[in-house]
Amino acid sequence: MATPAPNERLCRNFIDGEWVASRSARVVERRNPANLDEIVTLVPLSTPEEMRQAIEAARKAFPSWRDTPAPARGRILARAAQLMEQRKEELARLLTREEGKTFKDALGEVIKSVRVLEFMAGEGTRLAGETMPSDLPKNFAYTIKQPMGVVGLITPWNFPVSIPVWKIAPAIVAGNTVVLKPSTFAAQTAAKTLELLAEAGVPAGVINMVVGSGREAGGTLVEHPDVRAVSFTGSNAVGSGIYHTGAERMKKCQCEMGGKNPLVVLRDADLELAADATVFGAFASTGQRCTATSRVVIEEGVADRFVEMVVSRAKKWKVGNGLELDVDMGPAVNEQQIETDMRYIEMGKGVAKLVLGGERLAGGAWDRGYFVSPTIFDHVARDSSLAQDEIFGPVLSVVRVKDFDEAMDVANSVKYGLSSSLYSNDAARIFAFIDRIETGITHVNSPTVGGEAHLPFGGMKATGVGMREMGHGALDFFTEVKSVYIDYTGSRRETRAY
Ligand code: NAD
Repeated sequence: MATPAPNERLCRNFIDGEWVASRSARVVERRNPANLDEIVTLVPLSTPEEMRQAIEAARKAFPSWRDTPAPARGRILARAAQLMEQRKEELARLLTREEGKTFKDALGEVIKSVRVLEFMAGEGTRLAGETMPSDLPKNFAYTIKQPMGVVGLITPWNFPVSIPVWKIAPAIVAGNTVVLKPSTFAAQTAAKTLELLAEAGVPAGVINMVVGSGREAGGTLVEHPDVRAVSFTGSNAVGSGIYHTGAERMKKCQCEMGGKNPLVVLRDADLELAADATVFGAFASTGQRCTATSRVVIEEGVADRFVEMVVSRAKKWKVGNGLELDVDMGPAVNEQQIETDMRYIEMGKGVAKLVLGGERLAGGAWDRGYFVSPTIFDHVARDSSLAQDEIFGPVLSVVRVKDFDEAMDVANSVKYGLSSSLYSNDAARIFAFIDRIETGITHVNSPTVGGEAHLPFGGMKATGVGMREMGHGALDFFTEVKSVYIDYTGSRRETRAY
């Protein structure tokens, strides 16, 4: 039985079923980005040795977890789903205080994680291979899916409940044991999530967590010879390094990275619906979702009217501390992110038309946090850095185009390929868009954000390498396939049929 995580602010590591204090003397403070007077978490920068202990605990726990029947492994996830459902508000409040997103967004994230746990619980009964007819008489041929061993999971700050859950759940239901390295910007939320899983009955050593710096704790996890596979979500800069290191060591790697998601509006679209979706996609969670709408690509004929509609909606958004229930948009996650937001905003003022926002908010409670106004640039050039780079803040670029073909061209002109959306009622164009858009997820007449637990999630091009996450296919990354041939002729094989 795991010891409960202590409630104090100091984040502990979870190794072999115990919450243990790091021996590292280096500790970073995580303050509430909406109220910098509040220290939410103290995060020790754990040593490589502590990471190695966690990997060793996972290695030792593997044989008996592998031999636990998959449906029984799944039932533990089902219990975790129930516990998370019961404590969703408590977890969401911590998430808001530590990461900054509004309570409503945080609650949505926790509920999504419950759905992932429920779906993955059932995967324990569906972990099936295939049977195939053998080309030989009296031979039985089939495949089985088997776990790999210890898997390393590295996660970002922007979904500190659901991303750890959507990696841990398929990894452990498949029979692997894991070590999680969460982001230091939301480590306590990740710890609470693990606490629920442990309470649900995941045995000691099956899930472990070590907090610390990316380079040291994360780097040790990626490089360690006992770690068979690495599933990473985060920036392209870090992900490409992990992919490289993994390739050198012949590890299976899955990297889900940035996005620059277009919402395409054609002249026949329902502009009211499209405007609602644009504002929600661009500014919910402060634009800090990998699937956030960062570009609107719109046919010139309806652009003036549409931009006005979007601006008038976004103007009504209340920016502030996400714990206040009437707040629509919380702060940037940290100093570095608000600096990035402001750098792009200042640069944008010189090259595009600023039609809303464009400032760091000051005065009253805003002075205690990292607040930026919802910002919209119109007449953005398709190849400018405003239209090409992932800013990861509440900064929307409108790119005007002459027709559908140019819209497709612009939508596909970025290096990323995560999510997209089309607003139109023209069936031929809707299907042409679905065929030609280079994103792993696409929406028709709905926002770029969101994804359901039982559908694959991930991107094309520079967004994603490795296999998709979530859905039934998530298990493919976390398993090895073994082909089995059983000969029941009882006789020596004289000739081969192939
Ligand atoms: P990040 O790359 O800075 O950090 C992600 C994780 O990697 C953190 O835990 C960090 O400590 C760790 N890390 C950093 N350097 C490392 C190293 N050298 N070796 C091993 N680990 C290391 O990303 P972030 O700022 O936390 O998250 C924002 C990014 O995540 C955005 O680019 C966003 O688009 C992306 N994201 C993508 C998806 C997706 O599914 N495609 C989902 C959410 C977020």
